[in-house]
Amino acid sequence: MTVTLADILAARRVIRGVADATPLVPSPYMSKVIGQDFLLKLENMQPIGAFKLRGAMNAVMTQPETVQGVVCCSTGNHGRGVAYAAALRGMRAVICMSNLVPQAKIDGIRALGAEVRIIGTTQDEAMHESRRLCEVEGLVEISPFDDPAVISGQGTIGLEMLEQRPDLTAILVPLSGGGLAAGIAVAAKAINPGIRIIGITMEEGAAMYRSIRVGHPVEVAEVASLADSLGGGIGLANRLTFPICRDLLDDVVLVNEDEIRHAMQVLFFEDRIVAEGASVVGLAATLAGKLPGFDGPVGTVITGRNLDMAIFNRIMAGEDVQIGTYTLKGKTYGA
Ligand SMILES: *Cc1c(COP(=O)(O)O)cnc(C)c1O
Repeated sequence: MTVTLADILAARRVIRGVADATPLVPSPYMSKVIGQDFLLKLENMQPIGAFKLRGAMNAVMTQPETVQGVVCCSTGNHGRGVAYAAALRGMRAVICMSNLVPQAKIDGIRALGAEVRIIGTTQDEAMHESRRLCEVEGLVEISPFDDPAVISGQGTIGLEMLEQRPDLTAILVPLSGGGLAAGIAVAAKAINPGIRIIGITMEEGAAMYRSIRVGHPVEVAEVASLADSLGGGIGLANRLTFPICRDLLDDVVLVNEDEIRHAMQVLFFEDRIVAEGASVVGLAATLAGKLPGFDGPVGTVITGRNLDMAIFNRIMAGEDVQIGTYTLKGKTYGA
């Protein structure tokens, strides 16, 4: 089993008019930094505030008539996408999350009418609960990343980006379970085999990065981060996103909490965009000088905007922020 361009083209028809057609806009500031056009794919403008609606909607809408309801584990945005799509279809949805998930994300999911279960302190525990409910309540489980329908839905972002800017030479993709990076890589490399797809993730808990290095899926300790949407492992029984990311990603680059904060500030003060930490890791790696030079236009996906605005305000004010048990000391923008 794998995912092809044909699957992604089919997904595009399923999500049309609901979860597609976000803008791809230049960032003048970032373009000056790299000396090439630097483009932002604004998935923060999706109706649920994150790209995950694409994959979730494709997976929910293609379930057979006989399905009673759906269940998933989530770091927040996948659950919101599943809840939104299930409501559109008039279907029951149960979303399992750990207590690492910010309250703002939990509230957003409840508001869509889904049932919420908060279980344990890791994404792993949420995943086990989701699996259990799938068995005892006869619900269909929708993985946040390791599902061909989900990967195909996320891949529509790659199609759109290359239609909007066929001259893109590289795409910087926030990376966690790898559904987004796998989908974009399949789509973009089918259209332009020479394009570079670079996954970016946070230093602590970089499951896909470590797995690719050792050659098989491994577990990593889960740590609180400004990029909370990048938390969680890739699953020891990973079937799809591990081999696709291993084979198609040109590189995986890591960023730290300071670099993520800096990029959130740059995106807000220079481009006036409110985005969550996971969204800005492409900017963070670029601003930190962690990427090689570019010889043409570069795009990144601003994956979502679902964050606690009180924390956002503290970051913009240059105040200290508490991340789990760790205090990120204040300031940075312009340093
Ligand atoms: C889920 C998510 C990601 C990472 O996507 P994967 O498919 O898990 O790699 C990045 N940013 C945001 C905002 C997300 O919700």
